[in-house]
Amino acid sequence: MLEELTKNLYVYYPTNVGSNVYILIGKKVALIDTSLKASSADLKEALASIKLKPSDVELILHTHGHADHFGCDFMFKNAEKRMHESDAKYVELNDARYTCSNLLNQNEYPSIDSVLHNDEVIDIKPFSLRVIHTPGHTKGSVCFYDEEQKLLFSGDTLFKDACGRTDLQGGSEEQLIESLLNLKFLDFEILLPGHGVVFKGNQRANIDSVLKSLKGKFL
Ligand SMILES: [Zn+2]
Repeated sequence: MLEELTKNLYVYYPTNVGSNVYILIGKKVALIDTSLKASSADLKEALASIKLKPSDVELILHTHGHADHFGCDFMFKNAEKRMHESDAKYVELNDARYTCSNLLNQNEYPSIDSVLHNDEVIDIKPFSLRVIHTPGHTKGSVCFYDEEQKLLFSGDTLFKDACGRTDLQGGSEEQLIESLLNLKFLDFEILLPGHGVVFKGNQRANIDSVLKSLKGKFL
């Protein structure tokens, strides 16, 4: 299902366990994550409904290196594919365990063209996305922050009322807590997570309640 968030920004919600896909139409046509391979026909149809072909996509930004976030990369042959190096190296090694490809029964891997750096700003006007390295769910998890439009694309670091699991290879609850504390300092109004609904509301309260439940497990 495709939902228009603004005239330049859409979210594709998968019909399976794959990730959300964000479609940004700016100076470039860019996607944030590409869901599971099993979503490919449905995603293609969703793009067609806004008159986009897979070949129109120029850039794919990955929030992290799990297979449910890169499964449809193969459709976008013209797109530059980017990921933080701490996860990209496992994708390049076709590491089924780190990428959860074994759990998701999807043994295909994209080739990553370039790595994302913490604090780098990606200009795809009207979007200006700052890369924020937020390890915890995986080593190379990142969020993309648009300060002017007050958007945070949070991948599996933060959801509405929850955060990503930390019990998989490369996960660390300690690091996730630190990453969530860093996100608390950002001024954003719309949370665009890797799974679940887009959330417009009190972002600090959401982070606080997620942190409380995390810490609660150990107290
Ligand atoms: Zn994940």
